[in-house]
Amino acid sequence: MKKIQDRLRALPGVDKVLREDPIVALADEFPQVLVTEAIQQVIIDLRQSLLAADGEVTDVQLLPHAVATEAAALCRRVSRPSLQPVINATGTLLHTNLGRAPLAEQALEAISATARGYSNLELTLETGKRGHRFDHVESLICRLTGAEAALVVNNNAGAVLLALTALGKGREAIVSRGELVEIGGAFRIPDVMEAGGLRLKEVGSTNRTHLRDYENAISDETAMLVKAHTSNYRIVGFTSDVPARDLVPLAKQHDLIVLEDLGSGMLFDLSAYGLPQEPTVTETVEAGVDVITFSGDKLLGGPQAGIIVGRSDLLAKIKHHPLARALRIDKLTLAALEATLRLYLDRKDAINNVPLLRMLDAEQQGSRVRCQRLLDSLQGQVAAELEMIEDFARVGGGAMPLAELADTSIAIRPTQISMEQLAYRLRTCETPVMGRLQDERFLVNTRAVTDAQMENLVAALKAVLARS
Ligand SMILES: *Cc1c(COP(=O)(O)O)cnc(C)c1O
Repeated sequence: MKKIQDRLRALPGVDKVLREDPIVALADEFPQVLVTEAIQQVIIDLRQSLLAADGEVTDVQLLPHAVATEAAALCRRVSRPSLQPVINATGTLLHTNLGRAPLAEQALEAISATARGYSNLELTLETGKRGHRFDHVESLICRLTGAEAALVVNNNAGAVLLALTALGKGREAIVSRGELVEIGGAFRIPDVMEAGGLRLKEVGSTNRTHLRDYENAISDETAMLVKAHTSNYRIVGFTSDVPARDLVPLAKQHDLIVLEDLGSGMLFDLSAYGLPQEPTVTETVEAGVDVITFSGDKLLGGPQAGIIVGRSDLLAKIKHHPLARALRIDKLTLAALEATLRLYLDRKDAINNVPLLRMLDAEQQGSRVRCQRLLDSLQGQVAAELEMIEDFARVGGGAMPLAELADTSIAIRPTQISMEQLAYRLRTCETPVMGRLQDERFLVNTRAVTDAQMENLVAALKAVLARS
């Protein structure tokens, strides 16, 4: 073994590495500064390894060509966008960490057309006068939900905060203890109320709340009765709660507002897909609930947005509150939302075009067939035991936590790498793949995978599970 000093001297200089083929090939692809930085970084790392007592560096690694190859790979790695497409093989359709709902083609086209140039975002073309950005979808939402008025904002958490603040600031809101939940991402109803300047009056117990509990809690200070969907949380067993529709007569009697945060918010009943029966937005409007909020990117299958519908006098107050400006929806989201909502004008159009609704339908999504195809392409080709198993896909995104959509998955038991290595390599490959670890197996579910992604999914699994 040569002395460390000799080996340090053998490290090539940046100039020399710059002339090596792997680096020359990058010239048109990456800015010169990035290339130089990558080379410097590789040299620094090699020097540190040489100096470290246990750093093992071979003579080959010190050759200019080897340094260039390493630097080129580093350059490619750091130049990849941070936000990149991921194949969702988790079986969770609305995975918040993976960006929730994929958009319909029509929504993508609308985004592209709007982003490319100017639009009548805040302009009424007939009169040439200033308009509101939310005007573009208000009548559409009213038509789809039967509501008198509507407003769209950045997201549903914002919608709840805005509606509570605009209608109840400085006063009291009555909420059942069973609904004081945190729904992830640090969204807790009590905290949102506090942020909105309302005083929270809790009624009932965790598992049971009755109409008389609300009634007894009403005082001169009360502004509203609030119902919140418990989202990704369920209290089961000896329970009772008061549906918003039953709060309506009580609220009327005392001149109070009923506000319901539906969370996901469905425009039509999805129980035909095996999902639990929950009131749709339309049914909630019909029941007389004054103000209703829901998300754009949960079961609606549109872009991230918060939608508020309800009585026009109350919506007018909400629209004029300064927070409405702070939480305003951006034009690309608005374009996507309008295109998605238009599909809902004809239920068949929605079912055929909104990706989330297609995924709810196992037959239409053809996920069993694709699962079999996936198994066939991997069988005998990889270092793993493979099995097709009965499994469930889930809605996710805080919607319907207990609902299970019957499906099949591929269960993988790698024979040459660990389960964690498999998961890591899939996450960090060219097109990252997210699956799920369960019962000592790695499960791949294709319910939320598009046909176009299948080829990439097969390629990723083959590469990561290749026999060594
Ligand atoms: C998801 C959810 C929210 C938050 O909606 P975002 O659109 O993610 O801001 C609020 N309330 C309930 C009940 C929810 O399920």
